Amino acid sequence: MRAVVLRRHGDPSVLERADLPEPTAGPGQAVVEVRACAVNRLDLWVRGGLPGVRLPLPLVLGSDIAGVVSAVGPGVDPAWIGREVVVSPGTSCGACESCLSGWDNLCPRYAILGEQIAGGYCERLAVPAANLLPKPAGLDFVAAAAVPLTFLTAWQMLVVRAQVRPGQSVLIHAVGSGVGVAGLQIARLHGARVIALASSEAKLQRARELGAEAAFLSGDGAWEKEVRALPWVGKRGVDVVFEHTGAATWEASLRVCRRGGAIVTCGASSGHAATTDLRHVFFRQLQILGSTMGSKSLLFPILGHVERGALRPIVDRTFPLDEAAEAHRYLDRREQFGKVVLVP
Ligand code: ZN
Repeated sequence: MRAVVLRRHGDPSVLERADLPEPTAGPGQAVVEVRACAVNRLDLWVRGGLPGVRLPLPLVLGSDIAGVVSAVGPGVDPAWIGREVVVSPGTSCGACESCLSGWDNLCPRYAILGEQIAGGYCERLAVPAANLLPKPAGLDFVAAAAVPLTFLTAWQMLVVRAQVRPGQSVLIHAVGSGVGVAGLQIARLHGARVIALASSEAKLQRARELGAEAAFLSGDGAWEKEVRALPWVGKRGVDVVFEHTGAATWEASLRVCRRGGAIVTCGASSGHAATTDLRHVFFRQLQILGSTMGSKSLLFPILGHVERGALRPIVDRTFPLDEAAEAHRYLDRREQFGKVVLVP
């Protein structure tokens, strides 16, 4: 079976084509024939190595998988065989207090496909059958693979953590990223007014087409003033800041958030050592909310909204599986709007 394997951390050239043994379905597992696997920024972090985190190498990357079930192991309903599926990217024990309270992503044994366990940069892989979800009708495999990780992440941030409500203002950093595109649409779905920031005019135009009411360039440092000049923001500030850019934007994110508002963060692509002026936090009673991934249960409403067209996976471009390294270089250049997807 063809695959792309990470044997050591480094630049995209460390992604090696390899021939791996065919996977078999153990108890409770299913083998999925991968038809498409999206590339996430997480893949780039895993490839480069995370400070203080030891990952099991060699590793097959890839968290976002759509495909067809080709075999099931003992204890799994054989009716899954032949069905088109998307695979939930997180696995957990299924039995602990966190799992049973709907927070499987807080399980001590939580693991992400392509990070701690083998992922989808390959032709076939075995996954827990509990991770299978029917692929929304009318969505091709490439678009389906563009859904799970980013929509799950953005849904937990906005709906579960920040509890966004109709009429609220939401500021989305780096709207052209996968999570930014998902955040914009989820905020709109919940009746919020969206201000989008991005690095190019072309991306701002795409954001407006997806429902952003205001859109500003992020690179020139003028955006904070421009956001405050919006009559529906003004001195009061925005209700929710959707943060994933980190050090480069963090202090401005704190300033532009209204009293009692929320800054919800799932990442720090520009650096994790950000400065927090605590006076903003206590005097202005800001809520700083951390968020990572989301419960599998959230994928049910997400896929329902995707099926009826209310949320749309946006695919920037595809690469053949063999060109995974090129796909990583492309994502590194941050020119994309939406998802980059590998096709075996
Ligand atoms: Zn658990």
